[in-house]
Amino acid sequence: MPKRISTGKGSPLREIIPEGSSRRELTELHVHLGGSVPIYRLWEMGIERGIRGVAGSYEDFINLLHRSTSNTGDLDRYLEVFDIVELIQAGPRAVAEAIMIAINGAYRTGGMRRLGPGGEGGDPDPIFAITQLEIRFNPMKRTGLLLSKHGVQGLFDVDRIIRAACEAATNSEIAYKNGISTGLIICFGRDLSWEVNETLADKVCHWKKSYPNKIIGVDIAGPESELPLDKQQNLERMAALYKRAGAGIGKTVHVGETPHVSIDTFIKTIKALEPNRVAHPVVAAKAYWENKDARGLELLAQEKIVCELCVHSNLLTGAIASIEEYGRFLRTLDEFEIAYTFSTDSPALQLTTLAGELEMLLSSGAATPEQIIGALENADKATFISSDPFSPNAEEQ
Ligand SMILES: [Zn+2]
Repeated sequence: MPKRISTGKGSPLREIIPEGSSRRELTELHVHLGGSVPIYRLWEMGIERGIRGVAGSYEDFINLLHRSTSNTGDLDRYLEVFDIVELIQAGPRAVAEAIMIAINGAYRTGGMRRLGPGGEGGDPDPIFAITQLEIRFNPMKRTGLLLSKHGVQGLFDVDRIIRAACEAATNSEIAYKNGISTGLIICFGRDLSWEVNETLADKVCHWKKSYPNKIIGVDIAGPESELPLDKQQNLERMAALYKRAGAGIGKTVHVGETPHVSIDTFIKTIKALEPNRVAHPVVAAKAYWENKDARGLELLAQEKIVCELCVHSNLLTGAIASIEEYGRFLRTLDEFEIAYTFSTDSPALQLTTLAGELEMLLSSGAATPEQIIGALENADKATFISSDPFSPNAEEQ
């Protein structure tokens, strides 16, 4: 744990995670690499790599990348700047650097309640440290593929990128003398071609044999508007990808965050992909609230699928309208006995931290201390990271 300097009185989060508590070492299982490198470090990486014309000034760069209420509102707008970040993070060396920064950042600043304007740590009194971290990313989007428009090959070698990410995560654990555990979730892209996603599935299948404790899961990310998986043919193709890549590793999926995914598509997606966890399944709650349709919630409960919730991100994308509605969302999940966890999604670009988000839930009354504690325990249980660092977290199926 980082050393505490002051007592930090008056914090509702501090009351449930006091000094000496076993909960001062937490698990965070939903952050994207593109949103986990602080803006000031992205600026420095851009300068070092000679990237041209990203913004007119450092202040412009912060304003451009910072995901705030003034430049988001829906998922597509929220995702607009990730192309820039992915290009700054392109290539094996930049990916390795980004992974190390993300891990160190989670440990160092995850328990802080304040950050500086570029994402610098600004709180001398962190409440906890994140010591188990799952980072998700799309290696294909770090190949420079975006520069070739709709091409299928980028400048950089995806094999080298995946290997560099695994090595960087391993090196970070060694540096922390096993004080942290990390794992990588590989994301398919709703905005990439099937050909690119299929190549990625084969890469996951190949590299998880060499790094079974580092490549711990698969996911789908990107704009639901581009590939809502509402067509049976697309859903079958995605299910085949999950099978191809996902045998023996954890499965999660971003689905139901926007109105582009109907409750029927949500249910079909869950049944086809059979995930262990699901990110932002807002549509399941909304179908219940608006149409008394409980099928999505009942399916999550029946299959014991754990929900990955990212409060600030869900508010920025408009998935959930207000912090009060967030409280209702949590109560609905409790009503159906569905387990959920809290994460930050893209803390560096939102200028948020896990501690800040938990504090917001508590101080607004959206979550009770019991709900927060339950969610922290769920994250420990639901992580795909193996508790035994020397054996794979699941046997090959
Ligand atoms: Zn996410």
